[in-house]
Amino acid sequence: MSKTKFIFVTGGVTSSLGKGIISASIARLLVSRGFTVAIQKLDPYINIDPGTLNPYEHGECYVTDDGAETDLDLGHYERFTNVPTSQANNVTTGVIYQSVISKERKGEFLGETVQVIPHITDEIKYRIKILANRGNFDFLITEIGGTVGDIESLPFIEAVRQMRWELGKNSVVVHLTLVPFLAAAGELKTKPTQHSVKMLQEQGVQPDIIVCRTEKNLNEGLRNKIALFCNVTTSSVIECIDAETIYDVPILMKKENLDLEILKKAGIPAEGEPDLEEWKKFLHKLKNPVRDVQIGLVGKYVELKDAYKSINEAFIHAGAANECRVVVKSIHSEYMDESNANEKLKGLDGILVAPGFGERGIEGKITAIKYAREQGIPFLGICLGMQCAVIEFGRNVLGYKGAHSTEFNRSTPYPVIDMMEMQKKISGLGGTMRLGAYPCRLKKGSLVYDIFGIEHISERHRHRYEFNNEYKEVYTNAGMTPVGLNEKDNLVEIIELKDHPWFIGVQFHPEYRSTVANPHPLFVSFVKAAIDHASGTK
Ligand code: GLN
Repeated sequence: MSKTKFIFVTGGVTSSLGKGIISASIARLLVSRGFTVAIQKLDPYINIDPGTLNPYEHGECYVTDDGAETDLDLGHYERFTNVPTSQANNVTTGVIYQSVISKERKGEFLGETVQVIPHITDEIKYRIKILANRGNFDFLITEIGGTVGDIESLPFIEAVRQMRWELGKNSVVVHLTLVPFLAAAGELKTKPTQHSVKMLQEQGVQPDIIVCRTEKNLNEGLRNKIALFCNVTTSSVIECIDAETIYDVPILMKKENLDLEILKKAGIPAEGEPDLEEWKKFLHKLKNPVRDVQIGLVGKYVELKDAYKSINEAFIHAGAANECRVVVKSIHSEYMDESNANEKLKGLDGILVAPGFGERGIEGKITAIKYAREQGIPFLGICLGMQCAVIEFGRNVLGYKGAHSTEFNRSTPYPVIDMMEMQKKISGLGGTMRLGAYPCRLKKGSLVYDIFGIEHISERHRHRYEFNNEYKEVYTNAGMTPVGLNEKDNLVEIIELKDHPWFIGVQFHPEYRSTVANPHPLFVSFVKAAIDHASGTK
């Protein structure tokens, strides 16, 4: 029998309250107390994973070491806890049904009528328990996506009800709700919280702890009122006031004793205090920057903040490491061309060209790269951003008119970026790209070797196209050098420019591996280069 305590995090009233941040903050506090913790997200939508979802629908798709395309909340989990997640940490309704249906076809339920209860709920419980058993964790936090009352999330809540029954004291339900401030009445209102808890109770689940998102402090009277209406003690009504940064939330939750409440409900004696020293040092640096740098983020989804979540967070980590505030200026690649590039890019201390798929905004990205290359502005190209740097160099330095990626022009005379051999036989979409962590060997004497300080690195990928090896020699001779290689598959993973202060393109996604405890070296170095650029030009 597993010793794991199960924490379920549900949400009420509205979406976007920050269940992911609360779950990650709970994990941070428990890890800081020396417990082992895993976090998992159960998503009620029917897609197998968010890999095929448009970022406008669902924000960034986060990729784990084992190549799972997952919900962006897993990024928060890793950034807060520094513990890598995996395929098992994100389960959707699609995965659950696919698995049950395939078992049914194999005859595993022969003779039975296959139903939501017990077959679907059993599968959900299995996905929860298997993760707990795999690591024999002290705690498994399971965040239930969606809002209580959604039709889609019913089977998940039902699975929580059944598990509560089986586990008794070994489970804790934390319900996150909204306590809105009504300006006209000049008051915080508890009714939506009461309603959402009632709805949860109707579904058979009594929350142990209620975390209230609010823009104003909850007074004792309000806490008592919520406690009275929702069957919890006043100490289990936790205020979660709007914070300056998401990284404040673990500290705010500590002040509200959320960790102690959880331990109490789980029947674990609380010893000492969580060690949050490093976290506080990070926060101090984050809030007391010595200077600012301006970095342009060139992409086609810039109007949507969540689309580049991990990149923005990696800048926050790298900024703190450099005691500097990175002001990320969003630049829409679709609306940029030679005629306005100077106006849009002047004054920037660094330019990052974002990953992406599809042709929209490509020429704008290429224009931004030309500007960074010619003006000596620190440049980081990620995945498609690196591929665009190769295209730009081909067109404007090597004179390859019409050079392109075959993703955008199949009959380009210079296919400097081409589909990987291993991809050519694949027809289906969804989980079919080159995904997850692959090793990369760095060339001694290169800038990246200097930055990482080691020869062998491992980074996460999500792509189908690659640098075309037929052009390797010409590019190297002209000053764009492949400095990181995947030797097994003979793939160029990193390029850098010789005569430039800091110009690096990476086929992988360094942003996925940046955490508070381990800011990514490439981002740290890029921000440092931006600071140097700013000092040199001011
Ligand atoms: N579209 C490109 C490819 O498939 C780049 C992908 C990305 O930026 N993640 O290779």
